[in-house]
Amino acid sequence: MDVQRELRRLPSVDRLLQEPLIVERIQTSGRELVVDVVRAVLEETRHSILAGQPCPDTEALVHSIVQSLDKALRPTLRRVINATGVIIHTNLGRSPLSEAARRAMWEAGIGYSNLEYDLEQGRRGSRYYHAEALLCRLTGAQAALVVNNNAGAVLLVLSALARDKEVIISRSQLIEIGGGFRIPEVMAQSGARLVEVGTTNRTRLSDYERAITEHTALIMRAHRSNFRIIGFTAEPSLAELVELGDRYRIPVVDDLGSGTLLDTAPFGLEHEPMVQESVRAGAALVTFSGDKLLGGPQAGIIVGRRDLVEQLRHFPLTRALRVDKITLAGLQATLLHYLKGEALHAIPTWRMIARSPEELRAAAERWAEALRAAGLPAEVTVGQSAVGGGSLPGETLPTWCVALTVSSPDALARRLRAHEPPVIALIQEDQLRLDPRTVLPDEEDTLLQALIEAFHDAQHASEVQP
Ligand SMILES: *Cc1c(COP(=O)(O)O)cnc(C)c1O
Repeated sequence: MDVQRELRRLPSVDRLLQEPLIVERIQTSGRELVVDVVRAVLEETRHSILAGQPCPDTEALVHSIVQSLDKALRPTLRRVINATGVIIHTNLGRSPLSEAARRAMWEAGIGYSNLEYDLEQGRRGSRYYHAEALLCRLTGAQAALVVNNNAGAVLLVLSALARDKEVIISRSQLIEIGGGFRIPEVMAQSGARLVEVGTTNRTRLSDYERAITEHTALIMRAHRSNFRIIGFTAEPSLAELVELGDRYRIPVVDDLGSGTLLDTAPFGLEHEPMVQESVRAGAALVTFSGDKLLGGPQAGIIVGRRDLVEQLRHFPLTRALRVDKITLAGLQATLLHYLKGEALHAIPTWRMIARSPEELRAAAERWAEALRAAGLPAEVTVGQSAVGGGSLPGETLPTWCVALTVSSPDALARRLRAHEPPVIALIQEDQLRLDPRTVLPDEEDTLLQALIEAFHDAQHASEVQP
């Protein structure tokens, strides 16, 4: 092929900008972006010609330009349907929000608010005032502070209260949670010196006591998150640590990770440590996430002693971890559900935990029937949902899934991810499976439609002969 001749056939930028479809896009998508994309597509085509490809015709070039424009204008952060059965799925945005929380966040975004304005006095107020009273009432704590997320809350507590001092923690709690958050590294970042005591499986109160020096600033306890130690194990209780701390005037900080305000035991799960229990046991500060079992927006919540919270409030790092008005609005609305005793049915995370096996089986049967009617090889099978979010490691909730037996479940899963909206499914025992537990009621029809389309497309591409 004559490369030079092919290159000469390539239209100019100006020539492409006169194409009717492109003229239309200049009106709707903005001239600057369109010109950028035209240039980029021409550049790419030039490379492919140099690599020996023929020059595409103008129609094909216009088609690529329009596709690139659509891609550039589509937000990368999109809603997806979670059919994995993992309720607090960190990769999928953790907790879906209640209707009241969504409404409050929408309202906070529309206009101005009294975020840092005292309406009674007509002067400057504090954003930290908003969720505090609610958090105190719900947890029994004297004071509360909300920051950007729980990793930030832990970093703040250690930086403000233990910089250049020592923090005692059991070796059994030196964990890494998802995303590379390692307790020892956060401690190093804060400038606190880590003093490890005990062993991986057993730590005694006397191990803590022997490690106390004049440099000790805090005793810390951290939830092991998505990790579990079983067998020959022992650790002092929080109350015992507090009693030891009181004797030496050392505050005990409890990082609960997820934390919860409701008991998980009635749902056949283990008892996840509750925030109220830590406060009652005398922890000086308790930290937990807003978007794990609390079921609200991303936030880091610190509750505890008034004097310590006051110290945190005035520490410079607090400004860098500042929570925004939309989060505060959503958090308040979420907390109000607990106050009104309606959390179990108002907060999606808890509604999903509370769904009964019978209800899930009925949903799975309904889906399987609709799918079989469209020619899909669907059946119903037992499964296990997970709470996720670093809470209740290894604990599962019995569920019923729809299972599709196809030759390539991976290919089908890929097509479902490419659907709009994307659907995230499970692959287990060489089957593609969907757990109804985490699918919201208004997503059902879209999900079934997506499956039917993906299956038929895969069939045409000979990917899924059952
Ligand atoms: C999840 C978790 C964190 C971090 O919380 P984020 O809100 O994700 O920042 C910290 N500590 C523990 C024990 C956790 O489980």
